[in-house]
Amino acid sequence: MISIIGGGIGGLTLALALAFEKLGVEYNLYERAETLTEVGAGIWIPPNALQVLQWIDQDLFDQIKEGGNVIDRIVLGDSKLKPISDTDQGFIKNIFGFSTIAIHRGKLQSILYEFANKEKIKLGKSSKYMTKNGLCLYLFDLKHLTMC
Ligand SMILES: Cc1cc2nc3c(=O)[nH]c(=O)nc-3n(C[C@H](O)[C@H](O)[C@H](O)COP(=O)(O)OP(=O)(O)OC[C@H]3O[C@@H](n4cnc5c(N)ncnc54)[C@H](O)[C@@H]3O)c2cc1C
Repeated sequence: MISIIGGGIGGLTLALALAFEKLGVEYNLYERAETLTEVGAGIWIPPNALQVLQWIDQDLFDQIKEGGNVIDRIVLGDSKLKPISDTDQGFIKNIFGFSTIAIHRGKLQSILYEFANKEKIKLGKSSKYMTKNGLCLYLFDLKHLTMC
């Protein structure tokens, strides 16, 4: 049994990969927040991460694509906005099948949560420490300490 600590975009993506029994591993995910609220800024999901998300579930991938913006061109500028590089992302799309998608982190997290197996996600559980052999995980919620 695997314990995933944290229901951010990393933890939820891992849980989804496991929950869909792609890897056939039992797990529980512990998130210290009582609810997952849509906080954060815009992030870019590069083609390698998009390949993973599509591998997990095509519908999940489609929702992320719908919820974000596909980036076809990236212009980087200096502090005076003078362009220092300008790349057409078409060649990336030709190699990987995707170009980068920009999406709000909170939006991405809520889409991942929507697809997750809620029975395995324990909100309001904060992991404090585990024994050296990793066999015993100590969890706290607002009132209780749970061991193992
Ligand atoms: C301004 C900004 C821009 C960024 N832009 C990009 C980008 O363009 N592309 C990109 O790939 N990345 C970007 N990143 C990085 C990306 O946001 C992080 O790498 C990503 O959010 C990390 O995911 P995570 O799940 O590991 O952590 P988080 O999303 O931080 O989630 C951690 C979760 O763990 C929970 N938690 C913490 N401690 C405990 C505990 N003891 N017990 C239980 N739960 C706990 C927290 O409540 C939280 O929900 C950016 C980051 C910032 C700040």
